[in-house]
Amino acid sequence: VIDHGVPDRSVVTTCAYCGVGCSFEAQMKGDKLVRMVPYKGGDANHGHSCVKGRFAFGYASHPDRLTTPMIRDSIDQPWREASWEEAIGFAAQRLKAIQAEHGRESIGGITSSRCTNEETYLVQKLIRAAFGNNNTDTCARVCHSPTGYGLKTTMGESAGTQTFDSVMKADAIIVIGANPTDAHPVFGSMMRKRLRQGAKLIVADPRRIDLLKTPHLNEAQHLPLRPGTNVALVNALAHVVITEGLEDTGFVARRCDTDAYQRWRAFISEPRHSPEASEMITGVPSEAVRRAARTYATAPNGAIYYGLGVTEHSQGSTMVMGIANLAMATGNIGREGVGVNPLRGQNNVQGSCDMGSFPHELPGYQHVADPIARGRFEARWGVALDDEPGLRIPNMFDAAIEGTFKALYVQGEDIAQSDPNTQHVEAALRSLDCLIVQDIFLNETAKFAHVLLPGSSFLEKDGTFTNAERRINRVRKVTPPVAGKQDWEVTQDLANALGYPMNYAHPSEIMDEIAALAPSFAGVSYEKLEQYGSLQWPCNDANPRGMPTMHAIDFPIGLGRFAITEYVATEERTNRRFPLLLTTGRILSQYNVGAQTRRTHNQHWHDEDVLELHPSDAEVRGVSDGDWLGITSRSGQTVLRARLSERMQPGVVYTTFHHPGSGANVITTDNSDWATNCPEYKVTAVQVEKVSQP
Ligand code: SF4
Repeated sequence: VIDHGVPDRSVVTTCAYCGVGCSFEAQMKGDKLVRMVPYKGGDANHGHSCVKGRFAFGYASHPDRLTTPMIRDSIDQPWREASWEEAIGFAAQRLKAIQAEHGRESIGGITSSRCTNEETYLVQKLIRAAFGNNNTDTCARVCHSPTGYGLKTTMGESAGTQTFDSVMKADAIIVIGANPTDAHPVFGSMMRKRLRQGAKLIVADPRRIDLLKTPHLNEAQHLPLRPGTNVALVNALAHVVITEGLEDTGFVARRCDTDAYQRWRAFISEPRHSPEASEMITGVPSEAVRRAARTYATAPNGAIYYGLGVTEHSQGSTMVMGIANLAMATGNIGREGVGVNPLRGQNNVQGSCDMGSFPHELPGYQHVADPIARGRFEARWGVALDDEPGLRIPNMFDAAIEGTFKALYVQGEDIAQSDPNTQHVEAALRSLDCLIVQDIFLNETAKFAHVLLPGSSFLEKDGTFTNAERRINRVRKVTPPVAGKQDWEVTQDLANALGYPMNYAHPSEIMDEIAALAPSFAGVSYEKLEQYGSLQWPCNDANPRGMPTMHAIDFPIGLGRFAITEYVATEERTNRRFPLLLTTGRILSQYNVGAQTRRTHNQHWHDEDVLELHPSDAEVRGVSDGDWLGITSRSGQTVLRARLSERMQPGVVYTTFHHPGSGANVITTDNSDWATNCPEYKVTAVQVEKVSQP
């Protein structure tokens, strides 16, 4: 796949894997991409890269790419190839018929965090303006939706507060439920550099992640909590801050709602939140919690970074608010070196949320019930908009099974593989009268589709991605789309076929519309992106390059709001039948469900998912390294090979989810975050037994 020929031109574009958003020079020889070279002028990566962005681009020219639209009347029939015109017309006719028979609410769509801002914006616009409802959701539902809820509730903005470079000013760094050296490698390296310079490290994670093994660390503390007990731990950290007088009273008095603070202070001071009480829940020794709280609260600059180990829980939103409470109470907000920093998994999770993909929010996080905001969109889009929030992804599945939801347009998402409780998802997809899948490969979801529209890879399109630090980077077309159309053009064609006119000539025109309607994007344009290289929203005339540090002067809601964060145990309990807790994560060379990386040379670095377990759990089961294991949960069962690992704590097992056969989501449960329905991927009670080879 990698041809080391001498390039004759290069195009600067953005990596389409993780939320770091590294810039690359795509070097071309003729019409062939020969090399991806990290771009020294990249504001997020400063010339660095990892093995995914650097080498794992061969999937774009893989023979599995879909190149022709396909249609079929029912899912038990074979596909038949169609022209673009025929396929789009077929889809539009079905959607119109379904809506006429079953009503406006019977159809919806799912946008993708892999696609550009402009593509995502068009999909939600299609659903709101052409379908006439708010049944739009995004794959952020299953990863960082609690970040949106928790940060907006406490600090008024659904985004991280810092740039990546800010970590170089941090003196104490807390990493909770994240594994940056594997999942966000370029930022993980930057963090390691700061740790080697002397910053103190506190990791709250059931596993002993590689960051703790960084050579020449000044100080590293590990809080190995039981999966599902995050909120008890963050409350205990805050309890120490308050009861030992470590809070920043000046920051709280100046910047926060003091009534809310006093209520929270009384709550968190209660003995039931003490480190001793929390030890009974989390398993983390109380002295370790006290030491960690003191380290963070007394550091000149304390920064918190977190990942899906925070959000993918039944208390994901509560935990995000607990982190915000801790940062506000210690005054670690509003300058370099501090902050609350969600590490976004996918390249454009931030952007897909910014673009109004959620069923309750228009682009720019403007609620659909807000008449002034809605009025602006209605005037621009020329239609009346629904003021009721629409269906979330899990609600769509339930409604499909009940028979009230009949059609779904899915752009760039493999929901059959990536959403929890696979059996339930497949039953929902099988119930639909029309499923339109737009993707670069024939994925698991496409098996239930009636219309298959070939997607375009990041190398074949113009647009923008927004990374985890709110940085908007340009994506530039390197090669022509293999099927002849960029994704935004397909959505536009579908809108026109449905009778709702869209006439954009280039994604820059879509961005101009976004800037006119979403205040935080008011200063964003392709001209400015060319001028400055990248922009960090909020971006406007006063901040033409955007705002690197959020909340420096005030919060968008005026005063910071402390939230009461009551710990509630997950319903997923261990017992004699399911005595172990399974949690999940990623490794460096692979990416999510592996649709791309498995079609590159990276496949050779990780060709199967395995189950990591502590040697003591293996010994009682008579398991040796490499044995086959049957893993059974209340939802289902799968088979994985064993890997004994001292990184695990006894009673907790771990796997990745990069290979379709691993069945990680066959065994995960239906539990989800109380506020956002983000699935509780990180806690599943299981039994593990040695089996013969499957
Ligand atoms: Fe791509 Fe993330 Fe690796 Fe950067 S760190 S090259 S954005 S996968």
